[in-house]
Amino acid sequence: MAARMWFAGKLGETGLATTIDGIGNVVGRSVGDHGKVLLLGSHLETQPFAGWLDGSLGTLFALEVVRAIKEADLPYAVDVGAWADEEGHFGTMLGSRSFCGMVSEETIDQARSKATGQPMREALADAGLAGRERVVMDPARYAGYLEAHIEQGDFLDSSGLRLGIVTGIVGIRTFRLASSGQQNHAGTTRMAARRDAGAALLRLWQAINSEFEANAGPTTVWTFGRMAFEPGAPSVIPGRAEATFQFRDEDPDRLARLEARLDAAVAAANHAGPCLIESTLMGSVDPSAMSKEFQEALERSAERFATGAHVRMPSGAGHDAQVFARCIPAGMLFVPSIGGISHHPDEDTADTDIVLGCQVFADAVVSLSEMPAPA
Ligand SMILES: [Zn+2]
Repeated sequence: MAARMWFAGKLGETGLATTIDGIGNVVGRSVGDHGKVLLLGSHLETQPFAGWLDGSLGTLFALEVVRAIKEADLPYAVDVGAWADEEGHFGTMLGSRSFCGMVSEETIDQARSKATGQPMREALADAGLAGRERVVMDPARYAGYLEAHIEQGDFLDSSGLRLGIVTGIVGIRTFRLASSGQQNHAGTTRMAARRDAGAALLRLWQAINSEFEANAGPTTVWTFGRMAFEPGAPSVIPGRAEATFQFRDEDPDRLARLEARLDAAVAAANHAGPCLIESTLMGSVDPSAMSKEFQEALERSAERFATGAHVRMPSGAGHDAQVFARCIPAGMLFVPSIGGISHHPDEDTADTDIVLGCQVFADAVVSLSEMPAPA
């Protein structure tokens, strides 16, 4: 709340009509009738014990752009938002989804802190936000949404590049793989007679890895995030084993093809026996494509200030821009994360890259603001 109040104060000093709304979004609106408005933003909250740039970089870029427009006395209209709960402490991007009109009062009634179980209503009341109205956007007001963010991976840093123009935010499929066999004595059960649920799951793991290596795209990523054997003792053959398997890609067709390869690997494992493996879809997020026009504007600005040192790339992490992309044109700009470290106190970006990123972000805002509105 201290960060929100500080930020709201700074936005107010630029002349934006600023409020902290009923879900904790800080929203600053340009006043007067300017035609179409660009919306800039990111988030102020982060993960516990995390770094200083995730989210705050994009909100400060937005503030700096508004200040620069005011100082130069330019006629462009820009609104700014700092979206609550991007990191998912209570839900999934509740702030930006609320602003886009996708969150009901019942959703907030039911939301609880994933860390402490505290109801979100109570947390909002503790923060002094109980009973405040939520600000919901009119999509017709906006030409689109632009967000700057640290990359959080090491692609830019390890390639010696200074800017990433985000093409889309990846879709995610998460599965639970459960293997059932026969729990038995690890000393007396002959190898040929075993139905070892753990071994079956490990064989499937190998098979899935091979399928994905053969069928993945250049930026596909896949992860076995958790594996557990039951009962989990050195002298007992596992009767049951479970794993989570998640993969991400920005291409919806490739996601579908990879899901089919996963199904085929599970079917082959069940055909070979001797254990039964069930695969259950636990979560599915569709990819969000960024606006082509916004990508081009960001790329032109990047080329102007960092010739040859920028690249188009997907985002492997989720961002508020993926919510906005469902309602209005959206674009994102990445600056490098040193060593690819994020969600950690060592998270950092070179000062020169922060300054360059803000310059390019501002230049793209200018070029999009000068573009004639589509007829
Ligand atoms: Zn973030």
